[in-house]
Amino acid sequence: MATPPSGPTLTFLGGARTVTGSKTLLETGDTRVLIDCGVFQGRKELRLANWAEFPVDPASIDAVVLTHAHVDHSGYVPRLCRAGFRGPVYATGGTCDLAAIVLPDSGHLHEEEAAFANRKGYSKHHPAQPLYTEADAVRSLAQFVPVGFGERRTVAAGIDVEWTRAGHILGAASLHVDVGDRRLVFSGDLGRAGHPLLLPPDPIGAADVVVVESTYGDRAHLDVDAAAALTLVVNDTARQGGVVIIPAFAVDRTEVVLWHLDQLVERGDIPNLPIFVDSPMASRALDVYRNGRLRGSPEFRPGVADRPLFPSLDITETPTTEASKSLNARHGPFVIVSASGMATGGRVLHHLADRIGDSRNAVVLVGFQAPGTRGDQLRHGADRIKMFGSEYRVAADVVSIELSSHADRSELLAWLATADDPDLVLVNHGEPDAAASLADAVHERLGVPAMVPAPGERVAVPPRTR
Ligand SMILES: [Zn+2]
Repeated sequence: MATPPSGPTLTFLGGARTVTGSKTLLETGDTRVLIDCGVFQGRKELRLANWAEFPVDPASIDAVVLTHAHVDHSGYVPRLCRAGFRGPVYATGGTCDLAAIVLPDSGHLHEEEAAFANRKGYSKHHPAQPLYTEADAVRSLAQFVPVGFGERRTVAAGIDVEWTRAGHILGAASLHVDVGDRRLVFSGDLGRAGHPLLLPPDPIGAADVVVVESTYGDRAHLDVDAAAALTLVVNDTARQGGVVIIPAFAVDRTEVVLWHLDQLVERGDIPNLPIFVDSPMASRALDVYRNGRLRGSPEFRPGVADRPLFPSLDITETPTTEASKSLNARHGPFVIVSASGMATGGRVLHHLADRIGDSRNAVVLVGFQAPGTRGDQLRHGADRIKMFGSEYRVAADVVSIELSSHADRSELLAWLATADDPDLVLVNHGEPDAAASLADAVHERLGVPAMVPAPGERVAVPPRTR
């Protein structure tokens, strides 16, 4: 790297012009703090970036500060620790609890991937190595330090951080970072104002520089009436004695789906069918949400905070393989909520293989479906899908209800408008078009200079001029 400017700088090591691998290095004097520590996922050239030598010595980083537990923001922590980072990883209690679920699982997947590459002999390295192991991930958890919302912490010499609500998943925060006389605000991933369990993102207030995500920077969400769509499909399927299969991301989406079903049962709009949550990770995440509410986490909405979660539902969790398999013999009507959300793997595949050929059943897609995934094929009306090496005819009813946990363009702009007169907006965590479009809108509508840092670009924090 070139000689650094004298004031604080931000270097965009990941999540720059892409939605994955979020990592921003804040440097001031000799102090280094890494804001988010995400792993790259998706396209091969991105995944390969996980293997590059870290641009600075990991041992020279004083602290890592996380916005939330999704692996594109946290999944590189075990690798950084393995490479010599020994400092604290500051995160909210909810993020620490969810990281304790998702990071070991991620390590396990890396190990499986390496084992698969070795069996197939397609790795460049012999033998293929995992990016990190489950044991690495478990070890790295000892470096996590929980903090509360609204708490201020000195995370390194001259750098104070406060965590505020981002409303995206449990534990998700925006970061207000004071360095010298400058305040930098990092959005993290921002939720939608309408998240049914979590309060919306807090307003920004004082900020000199805002770093904002732009996943949906050029798009508006179509507001589907999830309640109406679910009512229709659950009633139709129940009448025919069928099974409703809901592939759902284990963290947050499962809770949002259960919340909708709970409301419908309480209102008498759908029958109180047995509901099976068939995903060990979803079960553990459910516990984190339940415990978060019991602990009195300030993230929950009134009405959710003051009573048990999903009180009207008849939920059975089936964490063991035997319990999961026993569902195959069960006759409908009932509902299965199972991962993965795009039907790319996990137990939901067994249920789809078992039930998708029967027209009495229904599949309800509730999240974003990446191009090329089975979920995407189903959404586009495929009449056959491939699973476990065989083709399955699709006779079940397929319904798509996209429940996004990301703010869209207008919600991002509304949040940015709550900043008091910032000098600069830096747009990250979005594909190039989405980021550029949001930066243009920030400039035109809010009158604030905005830029989209390139991968690896170092940006000097502008000095105080007023
Ligand atoms: Zn996220």
